[in-house]
Amino acid sequence: MTLNQVYNGNNIDEVVEILGKYGRDAKIIAGGTDIVIALKNEKISPKVLIDITKIADLKDIEDDGEYIKIGAGVTFTQIIRNPLFQGNLYGLYKACRMVGSPQIRNKGTIGGNIANGSAAADSIPPLIALGSKVKLLSIDGTREIAIEDYYNDPIKENEILTTITFKKPKENQILTFAKLGLRKALAISRLTSATFIEFDDEDFVKSIRVASGALGKYPMREYEVEKYLIGKKIEAKTIEGAIGTIQSSMDERLKGRATLPYKRVAISGILKEAMELAVKNKGGVKE
Ligand SMILES: Cc1cc2nc3c(=O)[nH]c(=O)nc-3n(C[C@H](O)[C@H](O)[C@H](O)COP(=O)(O)OP(=O)(O)OC[C@H]3O[C@@H](n4cnc5c(N)ncnc54)[C@H](O)[C@@H]3O)c2cc1C
Repeated sequence: MTLNQVYNGNNIDEVVEILGKYGRDAKIIAGGTDIVIALKNEKISPKVLIDITKIADLKDIEDDGEYIKIGAGVTFTQIIRNPLFQGNLYGLYKACRMVGSPQIRNKGTIGGNIANGSAAADSIPPLIALGSKVKLLSIDGTREIAIEDYYNDPIKENEILTTITFKKPKENQILTFAKLGLRKALAISRLTSATFIEFDDEDFVKSIRVASGALGKYPMREYEVEKYLIGKKIEAKTIEGAIGTIQSSMDERLKGRATLPYKRVAISGILKEAMELAVKNKGGVKE
């Protein structure tokens, strides 16, 4: 099948209409950093490409005081440059800052990172830890799902991802991120960990979400670690306990995989770093 048309999408409604008309024969292109490779390698062969890079509605970052809404077409560079992500949302800044190279960050979008569906997508663990929801539109209507459930119910051929929304963290809450890549700069991450911790007045963990990347088929919540940490102080002993807990979960999840021994060791450093950063950066980033 040959590509015989490229549409420049002017607005979201138009994209929804074109997707509805062509179904599986159409593909959205945003920054192109993933899809161009897939086209070149003939992994996909759509008849129609829909360029969404000119749609202003997809490029906004909104803060209404209670929620933060990021348009799917927002690039990693836009996030890095926005002061909103310098405080207790620093974990998202850091994840975006560690993506690829400057060129990739200038082009690559957060929506493309999600829609591409890679287990090693860097923005997803922090977005899971934040309890984010994604909005998907098609001619059949609108649906909003927790990003945590996205991989069990991923984007459909006729859908466009429009926004990612999460609650704005309070002062006693902090998002962190740590990553172990294969090589510096251009490495696709092999292991990531994001934590979102709410501390009480005495620095005990009041609530927590921990998410990992590349520790399974897709990025996921680490519920066992959360259960272990709730009500505890983040200190050397509890970090050791949390590492032991995640390693037990991995032993189940990655049973028989050649990468398990390496990942067991690697996760200890990554989880430790993410948790120590939460203590260090609480109430203001000092990293
Ligand atoms: C050299 C290199 C290094 C990289 N390093 C990293 C890294 O360190 N970490 C990392 O996470 N990623 C990395 N990537 C992968 C890539 O840059 C990201 O996944 C990026 O976020 C993809 O966004 P995009 O806008 O370029 O998506 P595209 O390539 O334009 O699209 C990707 C897929 O998503 C779909 N899509 C895009 N936007 C939407 C939308 N709004 N609605 C519905 N479907 C949509 C497309 O149809 C396509 O299937 C790297 C890539 C390269 C080439």
